Amino acid sequence: MRKQIAAANWKMNKTLQEGQSLLNDILSADLSVGENQEVLFAVPFPYLIEANNIVSNRKNIFVTAQNCHHKTSGAYTGEVSVGMLTSIGIQYCLVGHSERREYFAESNQMLAEKVDLCLASSITPVFCCGEPLSIRDADTQNQFVEEQLKESLFHLDAAAIQKVVIAYEPIWAIGTGRTASAEQAQEMHAHIRLSLTNQYGEAIAQEISILYGGSVKGSNASELFSMKDVDGGLVGGASLIASEFVQIINALK
Ligand code: PEP
Repeated sequence: MRKQIAAANWKMNKTLQEGQSLLNDILSADLSVGENQEVLFAVPFPYLIEANNIVSNRKNIFVTAQNCHHKTSGAYTGEVSVGMLTSIGIQYCLVGHSERREYFAESNQMLAEKVDLCLASSITPVFCCGEPLSIRDADTQNQFVEEQLKESLFHLDAAAIQKVVIAYEPIWAIGTGRTASAEQAQEMHAHIRLSLTNQYGEAIAQEISILYGGSVKGSNASELFSMKDVDGGLVGGASLIASEFVQIINALK
């Protein structure tokens, strides 16, 4: 049975002290994280170790990196390698967030390298995909997202693809307050699962968690997560407010 996941993406927000109190507020709330559910906190690099200490005795709660470099090591000033992440006990990493694709020119090919490096180090990549508004307006979002999956994930074999989490995040819904409707989310998630089925077969496709991201809030999480192929959410803005994120966690199926 595939996992249901609530993932917080703090992006470049919060000081260490603010982050500590946010995490403590969330963890001390009345959380219901079931056997088949996970909560991820993608915090800025300097907070990974401290955040990992804070969640260390909590079941099914994991600290996540927001990015990693696509090479193993070397003269890449300012970058963070997958080996560095594993050396501090990190088990998840976001890969290909649309802000990284847009502002740091991350290509599908580069993201394929990041996915491979993560998997080689037993880090679960949370692979982000999703279309800009112009593609949605042209009604070619299915082909666009399928291309992202093909170029960054479909070189993986059947064992490896099952270790990947996919996050569908329509760019027009990220940080805009404009959420995809539950039907729009379900439609794309079903399409992603169909692409996985065509590539790897039904049994494997059914095991892969597909998260929705784009203005998820406490008030819309239940409806989005109730959709058949929506296995939780990747959450930016609302994950910075303890009460909102607690509501989102408790909305997981
Ligand atoms: C995100 O950054 O992944 C995201 C979905 O942001 P927001 O929830 O603020 O739209």
